[in-house]
Amino acid sequence: MSLEAFKNRNVGSQNYVPVEIDDYPTDGWDKFKQVVKRSLSKELFVGLWVVFREMVKFKIHTVQYPEEVLPLPPRYRAVHKLLRLLESGNERCIGCGLCEKICVADCIRMETKVDENSRKEVTEYSINLGRCIFCGYCAEVCPELAIVHGSRYENVSEQRAHFVIKDDMLTPIDFLKQQNEFDGFGAVSPNADELVKKTPLAY
Ligand code: SF4
Ligand code: SF4
Repeated sequence: MSLEAFKNRNVGSQNYVPVEIDDYPTDGWDKFKQVVKRSLSKELFVGLWVVFREMVKFKIHTVQYPEEVLPLPPRYRAVHKLLRLLESGNERCIGCGLCEKICVADCIRMETKVDENSRKEVTEYSINLGRCIFCGYCAEVCPELAIVHGSRYENVSEQRAHFVIKDDMLTPIDFLKQQNEFDGFGAVSPNADELVKKTPLAY
C-alpha cells in the first residue's frame, strides 16, 4: 500500500455528509440582514404563540413565596426541634449524649449537670447550622424522640457560624398543647407494632 493510500485508508467519501455553512457576513449591511432574517424566523412566532396560549389559560404555577409555601413531605429534614413530654411538659432529652457523639459534622455541643433531684439535666444544647449537613443521624439515634427535624428551612444567616440554641429549639411550655406527636424523620413508624418481631428466646 502506498503512503497516500495508507493515509486515506479509513476515509471514504460515502461516510461524510457535507454540511452547508453559509458564508459569514463581512460588512454591516449583510450582518443587519442576517439579524433580521434570524429574528423574524417562524420559530419566534411559534414561541410567542406558545407563551400566549399558556397565558390565556390563567393556570398560574408560580408559588408566591414567602406568602405561599409548598407543603413539605413529613420526613423532610429541616432545622431541629427539641420536644417535651406531652403529659408532664418535661424535656424529653435525658442528656445521654448519643446525638453529640454520632454527629458526623461534629456540630452538636451540650452541657449537662446533675440537678437537686440527682437527675441529669441538660443546661446547654446547641447545633452549629453552618456545619450541620442535615443527615438526620441525631434524630435517628435519639432514644427518647427528643430531637427531631422540624419543618423550618429558612435558616439563612449573615454569620458563617450560625447556631441554633436550646431555647430556640425547645417547645415553649406555653405552647405545649400545640406540640404534635412527631411522625417525621426519626419517629417510630405508625406500623411499628406490626414490624416488631417477638424475641425467639424464651426467658
Ligand atoms: S443532622 Fe447530622 S450533621 Fe446535623 S446535627 Fe444531626 S447528626 Fe449532626
Ligand atoms: S440523643 Fe436525644 S436524649 Fe440523648 S442527648 Fe441527644 S437529644 Fe438528648
